[in-house]
Amino acid sequence: MDAEPILKLESVTKHFPVTKGLIREKVVGHVHAVDGIDLALEAGETLALVGESGCGKSTTAKLILRQETPTSGTVEMDGKNVHALDGEELRQFRVDVQAVFQDPWSSLNPRMRVYDIVSEALVVNHKVSSVQVREKVANVLSAVGLRPEQARNFPHEFSGGQRQRIAIASALISDPKLLVLDEPVSALDVSIRSQIMNLFKDLQAEFGMSYIMVAHDLGTTRYMADKVAVMYLGRIVEIAPTRELFAEPLHPYTKALFSAALPSHPDIAREEIVLEGEVPSPIDPPPGCAFHPRCPMKIGKVCETSIPKLKQCQRSARKVACHLHHPPDSTGIDCGEDTAS
Ligand code: SF4
Repeated sequence: MDAEPILKLESVTKHFPVTKGLIREKVVGHVHAVDGIDLALEAGETLALVGESGCGKSTTAKLILRQETPTSGTVEMDGKNVHALDGEELRQFRVDVQAVFQDPWSSLNPRMRVYDIVSEALVVNHKVSSVQVREKVANVLSAVGLRPEQARNFPHEFSGGQRQRIAIASALISDPKLLVLDEPVSALDVSIRSQIMNLFKDLQAEFGMSYIMVAHDLGTTRYMADKVAVMYLGRIVEIAPTRELFAEPLHPYTKALFSAALPSHPDIAREEIVLEGEVPSPIDPPPGCAFHPRCPMKIGKVCETSIPKLKQCQRSARKVACHLHHPPDSTGIDCGEDTAS
């Protein structure tokens, strides 16, 4: 029997109103940032969300972190709707779910010493003695490769990679079950990027945390993730185990994305994934398959009129949303061969 996922998103939608008028604001449309996505994450697993800017991956991360409220659908952590939590359950959620962002400067108060930055979540969310706090700060600093005595210093006394280690230590201090990693290595020098990626992997192996990773960079994704969800205009168009997806991307958007942006080595950074053609407006997404205006494999009218559903392939754990692989008038063909060996 499959283990229960620790995190589950069901039919999650986030639409932001677009308003006009200075005094009497009138809603003239909605940005379809996230449009009915389903995801599941198991303990100890890493799921990467990839796609071009504006595809909805950062909004998805914010919905998981409770920084945004879904327009519809549910986000569940350990079987509980995270947007309906209050009291003790909400406090526990804030202990269990932590985030590490792209730019450590944005999350580190320059006027606070590392000790106070790292211990903050522990002091706020736990009833612990000062001796226990000191011990825990020393332990997490060691776990991320810093010396306990560096707790006395201020953030500006550290390099970029060390500051990211401080941010990771402050996320780890409350023993979270889930870390949301929003482009956690993209602001770092190439030379230390793999050190931080290895640190995340080592910490996951040691503490069994799950990661949701928002990534522009496919090299980082391939190295870090167990499975990858490819997003386009607020929807998941393909989700698959990482090895299977990189061996053979099936959705025409995934194919285009990978051929445009796949680096030859995980240490090679790409600032942004760039494809031919404009991404359509998320205020007025195209009817049918949202990728059809850019799709080189469009199969006709059906692509312009019918939204392809994300469906399971027959011989693998992969799901694809494309009429090419799941024709609407058929009981379903397989989505290519299972190339994972
Ligand atoms: Fe291309 Fe049609 Fe598949 Fe969309 S559904 S990706 S337009 S083939």
